Amino acid sequence: MTSLALAVDFGGTKVEAGLVDAQGNVLPESRFRRPSGGGSTSEQLQAAVAGVVRDALSTLPDDATLLGAGVGSAGPIEVVGGTVSPLNVPAWRGFPLRDFVTQVVREIVPGTPVVLRMDGLCIALAEHWVGAGRGYDNVMGMIVSTGIGGGLIVQGMAVQGPTGNAGHIGHIEVGCFDDPCKCGGIGCVEAIASGPKTVDWAVGQGWVGSTGEELAAAYAAGDPIAHAAVARSGRAIGQAIASAVSLADIELVAIGGGFSRVTPDLFDMIRSAIAERAAFGFVTKVKVVPSALSDAGPLIGAAALVHRGELLTEV
Ligand SMILES: [Zn+2]
Repeated sequence: MTSLALAVDFGGTKVEAGLVDAQGNVLPESRFRRPSGGGSTSEQLQAAVAGVVRDALSTLPDDATLLGAGVGSAGPIEVVGGTVSPLNVPAWRGFPLRDFVTQVVREIVPGTPVVLRMDGLCIALAEHWVGAGRGYDNVMGMIVSTGIGGGLIVQGMAVQGPTGNAGHIGHIEVGCFDDPCKCGGIGCVEAIASGPKTVDWAVGQGWVGSTGEELAAAYAAGDPIAHAAVARSGRAIGQAIASAVSLADIELVAIGGGFSRVTPDLFDMIRSAIAERAAFGFVTKVKVVPSALSDAGPLIGAAALVHRGELLTEV
């Protein structure tokens, strides 16, 4: 008998669902995704979520047990009420995503428990479970992509806070930058170093292009503006990590997300910024490494809410 979790990852670009076993493997035929663009209406978003959930559950093997469903969502969230207000999805402000998924799942598998947490926490759980953070009790998982997200495992337990938003590193303000952020902050690391914001900065310096992939190609070809843009973002990410490590004494930071792969040099830039700006040994000890997860990391993390539920505190 196989014990499976239904994993749902809701982000500002797509929603994805899949079935994940107790070893952290996603069943390939169970993976479904639909777009969830920021211009969608609430009804379109609900249809996308319900669609991927039903598609994934339609592949549930006859001899399998569905232990529960884990839902990771872009933040902010409100974990007690199970609502989400993703910054880049304006149609959803206080949307009851946990109850919505519960209703869809229970039409197919009655009584299934559903757990909702922030996507950044899910990534941290996934890295800690089967990724680069294995063997470490103090881990930050981080995504550098359309936005910047993260989550924390401290002393072997998930850190979530009373609202579920602990670990929201994208909105740490980093020094020497004055870029405005949608959250109301100035100089948030997300407003500087996300893929789109790095591209915007390069364009403002005269670079011709429009995507992170083009910026990566320009960097690889030795373009000086692309180099300066990536270095600027690497410095901002390094500063944010140094601040987070000062606060939480983290041992290892695993970074994934499309823009984290703009160039392998990004990791050296991040490490240099930490070395340059931190003198404390407990800060400079931090290991900053690429994610060891496949692109299924967010799904594996959402499944960890079920398979590794003992690391969560009750809300
Ligand atoms: Zn912000």
